[in-house]
Amino acid sequence: MKRCLHVIDGTSREPASGHWLDVFDPASGKPFASVASGNASDVEAAIAAAAAAFPAWSSLSNDARARWLERLANALEARIDLFAEAESRDGGKPVKLARDIEIPRAVANLRFFAHATTQFSSESHHGQAGLNYTLRAPLGVVGTISPWNLPLYLFTWKIAPALAAGNTVVAKPSEVTPLTATMLVELAAEIGFPPGVLNVVNGLGPEVGEPLVSHPQVKAISFTGSTAVGKRIAGIAAPLLKKVSLELGGKNPTLVFADSDWQDNLDTLVRSAFQNSGQICLCGSRILVERSIYAAFREAFVVRVQALQVGDPVDPDTRLGPLVSRAHFDKVVAALARARDEGANVLCGGGVLDRPGWFVAPTVLDGLGPDTATNREEIFGPVATLQAFDSDDEALTLANSVDYGLSASIWTRDLDRAHRLAADIRAGIVWINAWLMRDLRTPFGGTGQSGLGREGGLEAMRFFTEPKNVGIALR
Ligand code: NAD
Repeated sequence: MKRCLHVIDGTSREPASGHWLDVFDPASGKPFASVASGNASDVEAAIAAAAAAFPAWSSLSNDARARWLERLANALEARIDLFAEAESRDGGKPVKLARDIEIPRAVANLRFFAHATTQFSSESHHGQAGLNYTLRAPLGVVGTISPWNLPLYLFTWKIAPALAAGNTVVAKPSEVTPLTATMLVELAAEIGFPPGVLNVVNGLGPEVGEPLVSHPQVKAISFTGSTAVGKRIAGIAAPLLKKVSLELGGKNPTLVFADSDWQDNLDTLVRSAFQNSGQICLCGSRILVERSIYAAFREAFVVRVQALQVGDPVDPDTRLGPLVSRAHFDKVVAALARARDEGANVLCGGGVLDRPGWFVAPTVLDGLGPDTATNREEIFGPVATLQAFDSDDEALTLANSVDYGLSASIWTRDLDRAHRLAADIRAGIVWINAWLMRDLRTPFGGTGQSGLGREGGLEAMRFFTEPKNVGIALR
């Protein structure tokens, strides 16, 4: 059985506790690997290694740091199949999704921030008060905490800008899917990364994440995960006046207008709700449809959802795999029971599949109003609801009727309406006639219960640096 150790100071380390956690294959429900169950003393060792590595790493030229990230990107790219298989096994995601999209995007993250460090520049302000310019220094040791749904993609989304900006990193991947993050840090050591620059400490949130957040030597925390844990991290970091970036949950609306090319875009609309079994923070789980096309849309959409190939994630034809863990499966099953209690009409799915592993049938519901828990709370599974609207105003009211504000997609041919709604929808990311259209330069993040701060592009470089203004009198 594969064992995921910590990687501290360039070497793989056993957990100080001597304890291990099982890592499960979601397609069978059986353990197939184990992961080190870290504690505060492992975190302490990793922070000490990162602190020792910081002076040399931060004084490298931008070009030199960029070359290290490029080397890591190249090494990962050369092993895409290996990483895709591990990602698929670990998280139950279709291997095609891992191989074609997620691991290549992890490579792209490393490359993007390698370039970003050579392009990053700071501001200067020349005016009546003289000349001001801004210095941007790396923060020091920073911590990253990432979730299980896009394990390597989100891990690299954080470590790449942190390293590019000159920080050293202690990273904590999800204990549910630790494989690829650990493999990447092992790979960094293998290609000769300076020891201590990139460390991984595996284990549970309270035992590894919290000591990382509360440690005085850790200058910033970049967190992606649930709103509940994000709030807890914010609560620990606030009295320490520690910088935090919080990318949290979502309950994203998809607005489909009668004038859109919805028939031609059904595949994307289905994907936007069900990709990775709905376990993507950007999935549109509330589909709002103009009433004049509601019946036709519902029928066509349900047919397409029923045609999704659910199965073993390692099968290249599989489009939908199992849920990631027993705990998450139970949560989604409970959400389906609650939806029934709330009076949902189950248009397809609605239950678990009769096979080993944690499979839930792709489910479409309607008949529920915006005030139901089903339409307000994140389910994070293969479950989408349909609601009808009569006007732009009603569509906007429905879209904004949740406490989350991560993303939205609007489907219409009417440009005025698209821009008006894009401005008024409460969300950090809006797509018009598209979903998950990523450009790594754009600010990424949400508002309300979806988080605090932005990642992506130069926003991430700014987060991982401290600005200092220097003012010069000009006489
Ligand atoms: P989670 O909050 O349970 O765990 C995320 C990470 O935090 C894990 O590494 C976990 O071990 C760690 N953690 C748990 N308790 C902790 C604590 N007390 N202190 C410090 N760290 C702790 O989230 P999850 O279930 O892994 O991921 C799913 C959630 O992530 C969903 O809510 C989803 O919407 C959200 N998400 C958001 C984005 C985004 O960009 N906004 C992206 C992906 C996922």
